[in-house]
Amino acid sequence: MKKDFTHTFFYLKKSYQFAKKDKKYIVYSIILSIIFTFISVVAPILSAQQILNLTQELWLQLFLVTIAILIVEILRNIMVYCNNYCFNKYFFSVSKNIELEVAKETLRIETETLNQNSSGLFIERITDDTDVIASIFLELIEYVSDFITNFGILISIFFLNFKIFLLYAGFLIIVYCLNLYSSKKVQEKRKIQKKKREEFSGFVTELVRGVKDIKILNAEKSFIQKTASLTEEMNDAFYVFDRTKAKYRFIIDNIRDLLDCFIILIGIYSIIHGNLVVGTLLVILSYRGNIVNITHNIEHLLEALKYFSLSAQRVFEIIDGVNFPKEQFGSRHLEKATGTIEFQNVSFSYQDSKEVLHSLNFSIKPNETVSFVGKSGAGKSTIFHLLSGLYSPSNGNILLDGIPIKELDKDSIRGNISVISQSPYIFHMSIRDNFKIIKEDVTDEEIVWACKMACLHDFIVSLKDGYDTMIGEGGVTLSGGERQRLAIARALILKTEIILFDEATSALDNEIQQKIQESILNLQGEYTILIIAHRLSTVIHSDRIFVINDGEIIGEGTHESLLENHPFYKHLYEIELKKKKD
Ligand code: ADP
Repeated sequence: MKKDFTHTFFYLKKSYQFAKKDKKYIVYSIILSIIFTFISVVAPILSAQQILNLTQELWLQLFLVTIAILIVEILRNIMVYCNNYCFNKYFFSVSKNIELEVAKETLRIETETLNQNSSGLFIERITDDTDVIASIFLELIEYVSDFITNFGILISIFFLNFKIFLLYAGFLIIVYCLNLYSSKKVQEKRKIQKKKREEFSGFVTELVRGVKDIKILNAEKSFIQKTASLTEEMNDAFYVFDRTKAKYRFIIDNIRDLLDCFIILIGIYSIIHGNLVVGTLLVILSYRGNIVNITHNIEHLLEALKYFSLSAQRVFEIIDGVNFPKEQFGSRHLEKATGTIEFQNVSFSYQDSKEVLHSLNFSIKPNETVSFVGKSGAGKSTIFHLLSGLYSPSNGNILLDGIPIKELDKDSIRGNISVISQSPYIFHMSIRDNFKIIKEDVTDEEIVWACKMACLHDFIVSLKDGYDTMIGEGGVTLSGGERQRLAIARALILKTEIILFDEATSALDNEIQQKIQESILNLQGEYTILIIAHRLSTVIHSDRIFVINDGEIIGEGTHESLLENHPFYKHLYEIELKKKKD
């Protein structure tokens, strides 16, 4: 219990950093709550004792008590309205702060960890758990002030009628014990339910992302079955969670109703024996909800703290990097690289796997175009992953302009190297916005220049909406070749000196291949270009070719020299020629 409390307090302190900027709303809420509490606690005593002293007339007593109750209720509603305003203002601002922070930190998580976790895990934590954290401080104020209000009313009943007070107190003790017992069980179920929800949203994200491949693989049936079974598991977990809560609520509600009957009986008995006046019983009964709510207040308070603690743990795991290690960068800055790249005895293995690259040594001069060829699985993409800082070498050094990249900061690496993958991600927005999202102040002239260099301009202007054409849903669907050319244009906009290009393996038709080839030729000599080449047409124009096999460089030279002197390269070339003929 003490450990739980320390845990929760630790996270409350951490979460406050996001609420600090909007603390004025916390102050307003506290002031409103104090006024609210004062009105609610003082009112029953005033209405019951002072008003009743004013007159002996029963109907007048009842009339005045009713008016007093009405005034308190109206004031209460005004307070609720103002509090709601504060809550909304505060909540949206704070949840934005946390969501941004978690999204930012998610982008810093190292690639291996991102690969190992489903996207659902991150989506749930960014959207759902952050909301729980954002609302906690105002919720706490609300629950605590409600508790004080209702507890104050209980105290005033102590002065009005001791027997009824004892009944209420007994009821509260029973319900509190029940709550204590039930909350642990409910919390366990809640944890399971959250985990299942995470699995479900992860799978649905996969389904939406992979919809095209699912259709091609004719796998709709099994995906629907899996969706159904995950939905069922998630709903079952929610059902169990909800039933557990409902079971305890059912018991508590019945005890409360029993209590009501007792209070009415004791009230009538007291009136008959002249120990209570009707007006006082009316006041007591009108506040009966408040007394019963004391248990709800405690229950809500404990529940909110537990939910908060669970969500905060999940969110801060990402923010603090617990279980989600972040990419590590150095502190040296290199504004504009000339493009010299050097691999010195670089070895690498993916987590717990066998070594993929073995003591690689090579260097590339500025503005050189170098291709990497080799069989699938030889380690070509891994070289790109290391160079772009997605992974770090297990041994050896990679130098950029003579500086080990592990010493460089993030912008020095990512700001100097662009990667064009086999299937680049094109954002679901207009063509123009695909450029603006990566460089806010890009001009239209720059966009047109980049698209011309990437041999895409003519295609874009042939579209009805030109550069404002939406990509994806409700717009045009780009072919593999067009996507790659758009990615090339995007890389050009970033003006990075080094471009890593992973040529698409998929069979692109000759014309598109030609276009991509043209766009690369446009850049040759002005940028340092590294290409993972799957086609010989690309290789032929390279200044140098590295032949990679099993994580080692087994040959180096121009296309002609390799063809003449390197049997392995010659063999690859013959396979390629054969494929072309077929
Ligand atoms: P290529 O690009 O030449 O086809 P890769 O560099 O992609 O080859 O892969 C080299 C080896 O590393 C392969 O055996 C592949 O299975 C393995 N590999 C690639 N990515 C990972 C990863 N994320 N985790 C573990 N092994 C990987």
